Amino acid sequence: LPDVAREALRILEESGGEAWCVGGCVRDALLERPVHDVDLATNLPWPLVQKAFRDEGWGTVETGVAHGTLTVVRDGEPLEITTYRCDGTYSDGRHPDAVTPAATIEEDLLRRDFTVNALAYHPDRGIIDPFGGAEDIGRGIIRCVGDPTSRFSEDALRILRACRFASQLGFAIEKTTFDAMLASKHLLRKVSGERIYRELERFLCGDYVHDALMACVDVLAFVLPELVAMKGCEQVTKYHIYDVLEHTAWVVQHTPPEPLQRWSALFHDMGKPAAAFFEKRDGELVEHFYGHAAVSVVLAEGIMRRLPFPAWLRRDAPTLVRTHDDVVPANSRAVRRMLGRLGGRTDLFEALCDIKRADALAQAPFCAPRADEAEELRSALHEVLAAEEAFTVKQLAISGNDVMALGVKAGPEVGRILDAALGAVIDERVPNEREALLAFARSVASAE
Ligand code: ATP
Ligand code: MG
Repeated sequence: LPDVAREALRILEESGGEAWCVGGCVRDALLERPVHDVDLATNLPWPLVQKAFRDEGWGTVETGVAHGTLTVVRDGEPLEITTYRCDGTYSDGRHPDAVTPAATIEEDLLRRDFTVNALAYHPDRGIIDPFGGAEDIGRGIIRCVGDPTSRFSEDALRILRACRFASQLGFAIEKTTFDAMLASKHLLRKVSGERIYRELERFLCGDYVHDALMACVDVLAFVLPELVAMKGCEQVTKYHIYDVLEHTAWVVQHTPPEPLQRWSALFHDMGKPAAAFFEKRDGELVEHFYGHAAVSVVLAEGIMRRLPFPAWLRRDAPTLVRTHDDVVPANSRAVRRMLGRLGGRTDLFEALCDIKRADALAQAPFCAPRADEAEELRSALHEVLAAEEAFTVKQLAISGNDVMALGVKAGPEVGRILDAALGAVIDERVPNEREALLAFARSVASAE
């Protein structure tokens, strides 16, 4: 138990209250996973909690006092403290309509979503586990507290939380709970796009996302209907051993758990079902996916408009989707050309290597060497950067002013000449040296 949490328990108890650690921290501690934040539950109402912590010199933030939640801060470390409560329904799919204070920790645990999240722990009094959460943690099972159908009708976001915990923890969803998720998925219509986006992203960044995506696809398809066509879309090339959905699930799994890589991986082949074209050749079925990356970009942009994606993802994910199949040999010239297409963004180039590597690992075993090629491509990038070889106009040994000094009028013409110079430098037709580039620029200017 982190020091802050121990201190906070003492402060609450010395103010005459009762307090427990609850939720994810107890679950993660039992799983021996890193505990990233501790939530406490107490029977004290929040104004008393606030006074107790202020008296001890802690900061306090009224993050959710309408629902009894106060954040206390010591040395920049925040801790959430929530007064025992029972929740009713969430008719806006966001907040409980009314929160009634609860008298005991057991009552408070009753409002929590899954048995694995409904445990309380105190260093002196041990664990409270009214619903068999510890056993479910041991067996790796996500199960609702109480009747799943009514719990999902109170708050439909729990449907996506179940998928998210399956992906983060590698747990299976218990059958009654899963059946209720399928039957209640239409209630996700009431949930805000913001909450859906956040859960989907946590889902995608989970360590067990392949298994969870395969298990939960019919539920997730309510918010990502693009998945439906991917399921069962067979790829009959020798390179593929999975349908588009399972191939995608593996690509996501094999990328680093970062939003850009995970979303781009989810999107990368989404256009295949629409771009698929099958023919018989020499009696054998052959398939083509001409232009599928472009269709994937269109579908990705649609999803990113439907849900509140941040602007940087809306900008960068389509770039990776568009270029994921581009052939880039691991040499300086090809790397610098590709960097040009990526607007000079070396971070995007690294992410592209991540996607290419994962894409190779998600194909037939004989394609695995292409994962090494993606790593060679990454090394080639690092060599270009270490040698400070030019891949943007800014790195050229001449500037726009130099071009204008040759008598070219300010305007787009200057940019065109610099682009041509960059192309010549990348292709190693002209060295990146001032005199050589001025001569080149003069010859381009006079030719135009
Ligand atoms: P993590 O913080 O690792 O993402 P967590 O389980 O702590 O996981 P939080 O969203 O921080 O998840 O919520 C803390 C606890 O509050 C949960 O463990 C659960 O007991 C309860 N909880 C959170 N959201 C809901 C909900 N929508 N319905 C019911 N209980 C919830
Ligand atoms: Mg938490």
